[in-house]
Amino acid sequence: MRWINTAQGSVDFRARIAKARRLLVLLLLASLLLSAAGPEKHLSVYSVAANYSLPITQREGRDYVGLLELLEPLGRVSAKSDGQRWRFRYNSVEGEFQSGKTRARVQGREADLGEKFFVENNRGLVPVSSLGSLLPRFLGGPANLHEASGRLFIGSVSTHFTASLAADNPPRLVFNFTAPVNPSVSTEPGALRMTFSREPLVAPASPTLTFGSKAIPSASYSEGNGAAVLTVNSTIPVMATFSNGGRTVTIAPAAAAQAAAAGAQPAATPASPAPTANPTSSPTPAQVVQVSRRYFAVVDASHGGDDHGESLSSALAEKDVTVALARSLRQQLESRGITTLVLRDSDANLSLDQRAVFANADHAAIYIALHAASSGHGVRVYTALLPFGPDDRGPFRSWTTAQHNSLSLSRTAASAVVAEIQKRQIPVRNLDAPLRPLNNVTGPAIAIEVAPQGSNVAQLTAPDYQDLITGAVATAIAANRDQFGAAP
Ligand SMILES: [Zn+2]
Repeated sequence: MRWINTAQGSVDFRARIAKARRLLVLLLLASLLLSAAGPEKHLSVYSVAANYSLPITQREGRDYVGLLELLEPLGRVSAKSDGQRWRFRYNSVEGEFQSGKTRARVQGREADLGEKFFVENNRGLVPVSSLGSLLPRFLGGPANLHEASGRLFIGSVSTHFTASLAADNPPRLVFNFTAPVNPSVSTEPGALRMTFSREPLVAPASPTLTFGSKAIPSASYSEGNGAAVLTVNSTIPVMATFSNGGRTVTIAPAAAAQAAAAGAQPAATPASPAPTANPTSSPTPAQVVQVSRRYFAVVDASHGGDDHGESLSSALAEKDVTVALARSLRQQLESRGITTLVLRDSDANLSLDQRAVFANADHAAIYIALHAASSGHGVRVYTALLPFGPDDRGPFRSWTTAQHNSLSLSRTAASAVVAEIQKRQIPVRNLDAPLRPLNNVTGPAIAIEVAPQGSNVAQLTAPDYQDLITGAVATAIAANRDQFGAAP
């Protein structure tokens, strides 16, 4: 799929994960996010290379994850199963597992899983409870598992914070974080809640903080279902304001926060594309010029023309698979009553900027980019990882972070798509990535990369496999259409 580092160079992933967020009134979005997340359990993984989440499945009453899916974002993985035996390789480390057995071997040495190992459809399932001891054998470094809350820290990644009350009138509670954060924020009478699912936030010395303020008496830290949660208790309505590049969150009475924000950020209008950022050298296919009505969905067949994408095999280019997937997805969406524009319905050149411009000009309620890959086992669903820091300055700031205000809805869409694909027993993973043009699209935007379930690339061209996946995507979009339709 060839996208890493094409946009911004090799900036540390962690620095990109959260970004400058100014004023936040996300009550509605946060509640939508919660309702779409559903009851499914998942494991959040934090590492220097990537932050991602994986579905947790239950076997014999215990929590399990796929080992291949877990380590695949972190290095080269491969697996072979013959009967009950499953051989797995991560970079140069080899493991051997047996279905139904609690003991495995890693580099020839015994490893105790505590619970049984399972092989299903060539997937090796390991108990979540074993990860803290098993993963260091493969990774050669520490893995810190918070088992009860489904959070896994690989290597030395953690975000700490302090909280202090400024006893002004009105009082302000100031959180300072060691790295930028981008939580979802919700409020209810008496409390403001910040949920950190993508940040490796760790607990303060005491989970309950008291401030001796009548307006904001206390805050507490908790963890659950793949996220850390900070709850601020207040006797008056409060709001969260983000500053210092996402490293500072100030909780203040709602009226005071609004006044401060109005003074500090007169230009805090929704981001819009900068026309000067659009190259004009590529020819424009006729079918995208004639957009006269608003389509609900814009489906983008990635690559095309001179850009072949990945060579999936000697005879198969990614650009051809993405067009087939795009047509299949259009059919699936339209059969559910969702008007759909396919951005590239021919073998045309279309730049990343042009793709974003068309999605934005059409005010699409959802933008879906399609990619294909020869390896990766199943489906990956991406949301934007917005540039942070130096990328945030300069004339194109609004273009490179155009996605900012829709990121919560994009994640809602990604979660819904992941859940539907899971229901069809296809391995699926949810990732943030600096994948253009997602960051340039102003509305909800996701990218979907389809790989064969095993090693047979021909599966990518099989209509039943394509339809299975696009049907799942369309079902997820249709089920949440009211949320996306309400997007700005
Ligand atoms: Zn691609």
